Amino acid sequence: MDCIFCKIINKEIPSEIVYEDERVVAFKDTSPQAPIHFLIVPREHIESNDEVDENNYETIGQVFLVGKKLAKEYGLSKGYRIVNNCKADGGQTVNHIHFHLMGGRNMLWPPG
Ligand code: AMP
Ligand code: ZN
Repeated sequence: MDCIFCKIINKEIPSEIVYEDERVVAFKDTSPQAPIHFLIVPREHIESNDEVDENNYETIGQVFLVGKKLAKEYGLSKGYRIVNNCKADGGQTVNHIHFHLMGGRNMLWPPG
């Protein structure tokens, strides 16, 4: 399967990994939209939020625990955003589910 995030997870292409465990990997977004901008990604190739089900939802829960841990580690005590873009209208450009952890500035809402 030709998936850029699977290749990052398998260390076939380089990235700046900031966290990894048996379920998820987090790495720096190459086009950061905030002073802190990481992508938290399940190791399992789940295409989008539409493929989250009773077999993998605990991994998605782990994403949020890791988001909290990284936010603390990187000093985002004033707050942060975790966001998932689902499919074309949601703005998803990489079809391996991922969660943006963004912070270090006042995030705007609505994002547009
Ligand atoms: P989305 O639009 O939600 O699918 O987000 C995809 C994100 O992946 C974008 O913010 C890109 O900047 C980021 N991205 C694409 N390729 C890479 C890569 N090789 N390493 C790190 N981030 C990437
Ligand atoms: Zn993948």
